[in-house]
Amino acid sequence: MRNLRRASILAGLVLGLVSLHAGAPATRTLRGGVETGAPATRTLRGGVETGAQTPTIPYDHIHLNVPDPAVASAWYEKNMTGGRRITEAPDRIMYGSTRLMFLRSKAEAQPSAGTAIDHIGFSVADLDAKMTELEAAGVKITTPARDVPGLFKLAFVEDPWGTRIEVVQDAELLGLHHIHMRGPNPEEVITWLLDKFGGKRQQLKGRIDAVRYDADGFSSMWILVQKGEAVPSIGHAIDHIGWRSVTPLADTINELKAKGVVATSEPRPLTLPNGPPINFAYVAGPNGARIELVERPGLKPGQ
Ligand SMILES: [Zn+2]
Ligand SMILES: [Zn+2]
Repeated sequence: MRNLRRASILAGLVLGLVSLHAGAPATRTLRGGVETGAPATRTLRGGVETGAQTPTIPYDHIHLNVPDPAVASAWYEKNMTGGRRITEAPDRIMYGSTRLMFLRSKAEAQPSAGTAIDHIGFSVADLDAKMTELEAAGVKITTPARDVPGLFKLAFVEDPWGTRIEVVQDAELLGLHHIHMRGPNPEEVITWLLDKFGGKRQQLKGRIDAVRYDADGFSSMWILVQKGEAVPSIGHAIDHIGWRSVTPLADTINELKAKGVVATSEPRPLTLPNGPPINFAYVAGPNGARIELVERPGLKPGQ
């Protein structure tokens, strides 16, 4: 019964989406699609969580500012293991389905800490062993490993170009683990993300408010938010973070604009040296977090 109901909810949502594109009124379509006879609103609440009606936009990438992308990608390949080099363009490392990419900065980038995108997190199976390895490699350790009861072991390091990196031991999600945003009102950031990019409100280890991005074919990503004043991310070591538009980018940007989001650059195409062309645009995220939306036509989910 439960499965049947879920299937009919999904069918309803799919029909709703299809018909939205055809210009049919959403309410009528939803009612038509739900076969249980339950009112559409009640069904949505039961199946998708209250208010979580924004379809999830999968998480796509992190873009760092560095003086030399070749050197930086080698640093991450060596020290933040678990990624693999991809060939669509030089100096790109992919962790699960999340790309780590590098912009060549002319001036030296300022550190990421204190910006709206404060740091990124990697998860390893054995933090003590990893910290020994990083120390031996000469990596700058800013907070030694400590065990946070009920959470996990964690430490902070910094890459040579100012990106703050949290290293955690969370067996539930290894590899790229989280993006830690920052702002005076974390709840506002969480609400913004849920409204604009979907995702699921969840507590990391039942303790830390977060939004989790899961989508078919894509690896998972936690977005956490710490409380504090923040400066815009652009030009800092973590320049921006990116989500994947799985529908035409212009449509996604128009939907975001309809929700009051400001596009700081309109969609435009880019041909990658060894891969299919992409379309990309930037929007203004909360507290000056620079956010890219990228469409990768021809690539399957997670590619
Ligand atoms: Zn980017
Ligand atoms: Zn963190």
